Amino acid sequence: MKNKCADLHIHTTASDGTFSPRRVVREAAKKGLHTIAITDHDTVQGIPEAIQAGRDMNVEVIPGVELAVDERGSEVHILGLFIDWENKTLQDTLKNLSVQRVSRMKKIVCKLTQFGMNIKFEEILGLAKGGIIGRLHLAHVMKKKGYVESIAEAFNRHIGDRKACYVPRYKLSSEETISLIHRMGGVSIIAHPMLLRRDDIIIDLIKKGLCGIEAFYNHQSKETAEHYEKLAKDYGLLVTGGSDCHGEGKDRILMGSVRIPYKYVERLKEYRESME
Ligand code: AMP
Ligand code: FE
Ligand code: FE
Ligand code: ZN
Repeated sequence: MKNKCADLHIHTTASDGTFSPRRVVREAAKKGLHTIAITDHDTVQGIPEAIQAGRDMNVEVIPGVELAVDERGSEVHILGLFIDWENKTLQDTLKNLSVQRVSRMKKIVCKLTQFGMNIKFEEILGLAKGGIIGRLHLAHVMKKKGYVESIAEAFNRHIGDRKACYVPRYKLSSEETISLIHRMGGVSIIAHPMLLRRDDIIIDLIKKGLCGIEAFYNHQSKETAEHYEKLAKDYGLLVTGGSDCHGEGKDRILMGSVRIPYKYVERLKEYRESME
């Protein structure tokens, strides 16, 4: 295949995406993507189905995960690509994060109730269908029940970072997260740095062992991508890119809106081999 392309940041119903892993792979095949990475928040449960579907539909599936850390007062997301998703230590760590998400969501629901919104924890659980729960599920419930007109409004007015009903969730430290990813044979990449605009944080994380930057992301200008490519080059880091597709969970289906040339995947693989 000529001009092989990849989208290395995609969510499934295992976290807050609305497409099942199999459906994600089907959409990727339809969009002519050669390679995708499944990067659900705090879970690897979608990976086996995606890998099987990838075999069936001839799409290369890279196992990944997206973890959040707090750094200098900001929430930063770190992708682990090529992780050993079957590893028991990894699965136990992720299980703990998902359990902590449950108590945190109950606290958010309690706050919303104080603001007059009649939302039940079970409604969020129902929407998550056994996957890990997050604020995007809650935002959908708030919209369905007419408390907000859009998902954006739910975040901007109520549950976004530092808003009245926001409750932080338990996170590993950035050192722990980066080291966990590496111990699992994965490559650590800072996700969507353009949403953060804090190069000082990236430089901190590089000192802690960060391997790469997601320089290509949805809705961004050429200048922004160039900025992060240059930063990666200056610090000898890998470059990746992905759409952060959440199925229909966000405004539109983003899969394929970012297509990085396959050479970036090859560089990741070479780097990974050199780690062993
Ligand atoms: P949580 O993991 O529960 O803290 O929720 C964070 C998730 O909510 C992110 O992964 C996004 O999917 C989603 N999210 C965060 N901020 C926004 C926003 N402003 N608009 C839409 N979705 C958002
Ligand atoms: Fe998400
Ligand atoms: Fe993210
Ligand atoms: Zn994501």
